[in-house]
Amino acid sequence: MIFINPRGAPELACDHCGCRWVDRTNGNHCYECGSEITTAAIEEFQQALVEFSAKGAGQQDNAK
Ligand SMILES: [Zn+2]
Repeated sequence: MIFINPRGAPELACDHCGCRWVDRTNGNHCYECGSEITTAAIEEFQQALVEFSAKGAGQQDNAK
C-alpha cells in the first residue's frame, strides 16, 4: 500500500493495517502488526519514489 503525503511524496504503508512504520523495522515486517512487506510492494514504492523525484524537480520552483 502506498500513501501520498501532503507534500506529494510517496510513503510505503502496511497492506494489512495501513500503518506507515514499515520502513522503521528490519526484515521488511510491519512495525504494528508484524505482516511481511512484499517485494512487489517495495518495488512499487521505489517506482513511486522515482516518479516523485522526477516530478518534484520541476515543481519545487513553483512552491517557493
Ligand atoms: Zn501492519
